[in-house]
Amino acid sequence: MRQHHLFIVLLAGLLILLCALCACGDAQAPIPIQTSANTNAQESSASINTDTDPSPKGIILIDPGHGFDDPGCTAYDGSFTEAQITEAVAGLLQKELASRGWNVELTHDGRHMPDAELLYDSAQKMPIQNDINVNPQEWVCDNNLFSKYERVLYANARNRETPVILFLSLHVNFVETSAQTVRGFEIDYYKDHPGASAACSFSETLGRILADTFHQKVKLFADNKKEAFVVTKYTDMPSVLLEMGYASNTEDAALLASVKFQTRLAQAIAVAVDNIF
Ligand SMILES: [Zn+2]
Repeated sequence: MRQHHLFIVLLAGLLILLCALCACGDAQAPIPIQTSANTNAQESSASINTDTDPSPKGIILIDPGHGFDDPGCTAYDGSFTEAQITEAVAGLLQKELASRGWNVELTHDGRHMPDAELLYDSAQKMPIQNDINVNPQEWVCDNNLFSKYERVLYANARNRETPVILFLSLHVNFVETSAQTVRGFEIDYYKDHPGASAACSFSETLGRILADTFHQKVKLFADNKKEAFVVTKYTDMPSVLLEMGYASNTEDAALLASVKFQTRLAQAIAVAVDNIF
């Protein structure tokens, strides 16, 4: 009888142990199944721990097109300027990317221009290019405009200090009133750039995400040397220019002016960054 009692006690103990193990198993089960949000949260905390060092992922440099004395294009009804939209989306994108653990910077905040000496120094360091004469006196201008040439110089100077893994220039499109029905996104990169492979992958992914999210036309251009924008051609890092819609089109203009659209657009771009870099 005593042996039988001992057996029951041992069996009960074994059962309790098994249950305890099952409970541990249950508690740990979700850990290996990480959603992208979990991954990002971990990456985010990792970058906070090392915030004295550059993020191991490098810098995402966002360039809000125009600004200062250059408003860019204006909405068909005069309700906004291109610079207002590029700065608004750039700010939202900076926040969105930072929340995903990216080290992100803007080329300007609309109020402060980069130091002219830094730009001048960067111009002197530009390699000789066969299709352009980089004359620091001409490239760096003492005015209240942040030219496309100065943006290149700034991006390259920043990249010499800490690698810039993506330069993304934000713009708004415009066509004359006779083509008011033209609308949608446009993405450009320079096809013969040393960073064209990453720029191409990012552009294609961004294009797919924008088309899926907004059900709108996305035109993707792999520009040749003649067609390419200054900021996608002479920057030293993978560089992409995004036209976020047409200020000349009533529907696009309404979207561009809406914070909801700006926020969803910033999220879409951030997802593309997460997917590629
Ligand atoms: Zn523009």
